[in-house]
Amino acid sequence: MTTVFIVSAPSGSGKSTLVSRLLARDPKIMFSVSYTTRAPRGAEVQGGNYHYISRELFEEMVAGGEFLEWAEVFGNCYGTHRSVLERARAEGKDLILDIDVQGARQLMERLPEAVSVFVLAPSRAVLEQRLRARSEDSEPVIRRRLQEAAEEIRNYRMYDYVLVNDHLDRAVELLAAIVSAERLRRNRVEAQVQSILATFEVSVPAKD
Ligand code: ADP
Ligand code: 5GP
Repeated sequence: MTTVFIVSAPSGSGKSTLVSRLLARDPKIMFSVSYTTRAPRGAEVQGGNYHYISRELFEEMVAGGEFLEWAEVFGNCYGTHRSVLERARAEGKDLILDIDVQGARQLMERLPEAVSVFVLAPSRAVLEQRLRARSEDSEPVIRRRLQEAAEEIRNYRMYDYVLVNDHLDRAVELLAAIVSAERLRRNRVEAQVQSILATFEVSVPAKD
């Protein structure tokens, strides 16, 4: 059984860092590689961080209904291909998506059982520090990201969990704890419970 985890956060909150640390320690979770019309940044690689495609091709894929969700963020398009969920299900893995608030809203409608996590930096000052420390953006871009963060944060109530990324190690533990707890939901452990019940020669119908 596959649980879908949606992670959103204002840029610079540490969402990519948290997700990559989780992926490194949990082989049972698969990262959803999105399609985007933006160009690769820094050390990013085609097919690793994103599938980088032209706007023309992106629009064709939208028209063909190929995306589970898509959105325009910072002037570029980003979308989650339907096949990622099929692949995670076929491989018996959970799926984690790093998507923005607009995409999260679409996905929550389509997959109401998806588990959503909103990541927050502990304050605006810390967010600003992290954006500067990442040294990926120019001064005007940093200012725009901070303004957009204030807008995005207003949406935190849409999410099941809110994770404050203060100390990185602790935040990674908390994200892993969310994943572990969700894996203990009754519908996920039903088969295991049935086999335990069988040892007691107790039979309970699958649905109560
Ligand atoms: P996002 O994916 O949310 O845009 P990143 O993962 O790129 O953010 O993190 C932004 C910057 O903050 C990076 O330089 C990252 O190393 C740093 N960072 C992430 N989490 C923490 C943390 N808990 N404490 C200090 N720095 C952090
Ligand atoms: P970046 O360009 O910094 O990698 O990502 C910019 C924003 O786009 C981030 O908020 C990220 O979560 C979001 N994003 C990445 N992939 C997708 C996607 O497939 N769908 C949506 N809706 N947002 C995405």
